[in-house]
Amino acid sequence: MTTTTRGNLFILSAPSGAGKSSLIKALLEKHQDIKVSVSHTTRAARPGENNAEHYHFVSVEQFETLIQQGDFFEWAKVFDNYYGTSKAAIEEQLNSGIDVFLDIDWQGAQQVRKLVPDVKTIFILPPSQQELENRLNGRGQDSKEVIASRMAQAKSESSHYNEFDYVLINDDFNTTLSQLEHIVMAARMELSAQQTRHAALISDLLR
Ligand code: 5GP
Repeated sequence: MTTTTRGNLFILSAPSGAGKSSLIKALLEKHQDIKVSVSHTTRAARPGENNAEHYHFVSVEQFETLIQQGDFFEWAKVFDNYYGTSKAAIEEQLNSGIDVFLDIDWQGAQQVRKLVPDVKTIFILPPSQQELENRLNGRGQDSKEVIASRMAQAKSESSHYNEFDYVLINDDFNTTLSQLEHIVMAARMELSAQQTRHAALISDLLR
């Protein structure tokens, strides 16, 4: 018999264009027991983005009210817009044993590390500056000005890579996905989780 353990909390950060969104999408498709937290943001929805699926799209006023109410686990201003993870978005899932990924920036990661010291943090880097540029241009959803500003932001975001537990270089997509899965699987086998999950077995073996 096994007992449900609290899910693990992971943070995935990366500069824009490193391939983070595609990796999370593939990870969720392969593993029903992993979820990603849906953040709140004040930025406008991009084509193809749905409210409550990709983000909870809210006004600046609504976001500031949520801050005042203490509804956020963490929040930050990124590219002039507010982004935040609500407490409600993660607590229930973690309590029911689901592993939760936060797709957040380095500022959010710093806040979460203080609240949850055993959070597993992962940073994804692109394989080269040129490839990053190609990917940002190839997306075709943002204007030239936005792309130029994101290249500058990418450098500043990347400078925080050394605050993270794991660093993945996203050259080959499937390799990086597999590395991500290995990190999740290793976290599940940590001593404290296994002691709870297999308490009956362990007590029987050591009887
Ligand atoms: P985008 O606008 O491209 O969806 O996201 C821009 C940046 O905001 C990304 O680096 C993303 O990880 C970050 N971000 C998205 N949601 C949150 C959040 O809830 N909190 C924080 N701190 N950053 C977020």
